[in-house]
Amino acid sequence: AKAAGRNAIQMFRTTMQHAASARLQLEGELRLALQRQEFELHLQAQVDARTGGVVGAEVLLRWHHPEHGARSPAQFIEVLEESGLIVEVGNWVIREACRIAAALLAKGLIDADSFTLCINISPRQFRQNDFVERILDTLKLAGLAPKMIKLEITEGIVIQNLDDTIAKMRRLCRHGVSFAMDDFGTGYSSLTYLKRLPVNLLKIDQSFVRDALIDPNDAEIIRAIVAMARSLGLEVIAEGVEQQAQLDLLQLQGCHLYQGYLFSRPLPLAEFSEVLRVRSP
Ligand code: C2E
Ligand code: CA
Ligand code: CA
Ligand code: CA
Repeated sequence: AKAAGRNAIQMFRTTMQHAASARLQLEGELRLALQRQEFELHLQAQVDARTGGVVGAEVLLRWHHPEHGARSPAQFIEVLEESGLIVEVGNWVIREACRIAAALLAKGLIDADSFTLCINISPRQFRQNDFVERILDTLKLAGLAPKMIKLEITEGIVIQNLDDTIAKMRRLCRHGVSFAMDDFGTGYSSLTYLKRLPVNLLKIDQSFVRDALIDPNDAEIIRAIVAMARSLGLEVIAEGVEQQAQLDLLQLQGCHLYQGYLFSRPLPLAEFSEVLRVRSP
């Protein structure tokens, strides 16, 4: 029995060592990915169901690994965050997003008054001392009005340092940058923070949308979020809308902005431009 136990421990150790070295390898590959320009941003349309108009887009990071092909952020965002690489990659995302927005504007495919580009910001990135300056500098360099971008933050950012978070958000807001609370409803103290943060859009987490048609609790949560958004004077958008019936339910509850496969998947810039071209009046 003792020998078996020792074997089990040895096996456990070996497994852990494999996991650790796989992770180190991934980190190394991610480090190179920036230099090798293996990252790309895809864009997913945000639609107003009442008009059918595209009111904005979220930029989503994609990694084209030379051997493994396209990799989803779910497989590497955590490693970027924990290794600190997210700061450098995040800065690239901001630059690239601004470049894309400027290009869409120049082509007349979007309008500065009616289109917002949403950028995901990770906790580590937001905590950088020069975060605010970097955003403003990048906007200036791209010749982009700050109101054209919206930063998607999560409650993970907020709980780490509320005062610092509010201070940074206020400074950016004063310049015209706006904020969305991502994955809303999945955190635990949403309400307390919400009142103090200069956020103007709530993104209903896709888990609620996914089950809204089959689980009355999820439908009820959506209803509550929409009601709360309304009473606080905030906009609300639903993520992960895949079926018409989900959209019908959302609209019935007063949520008219949505993002999801029902309208479009996240697309490379050329294909997203095509969507805009077809849509534009
Ligand atoms: P998120 O911010 O909640 O992004 C929404 C995710 O839902 C995206 O996954 C998108 O492709 C997916 N999605 C959109 N519509 C549908 C739908 O109708 N059905 C389903 N099942 N999924 C849908 P993605 O692109 O794999 O990104 C995963 C997460 O990785 C994001 O979740 C975000 O937290 C993170 N992420 C992505 N890009 C960036 C980035 O540039 N910076 C940072 N810090 N995080 C990022
Ligand atoms: Ca997001
Ligand atoms: Ca989300
Ligand atoms: Ca998420």
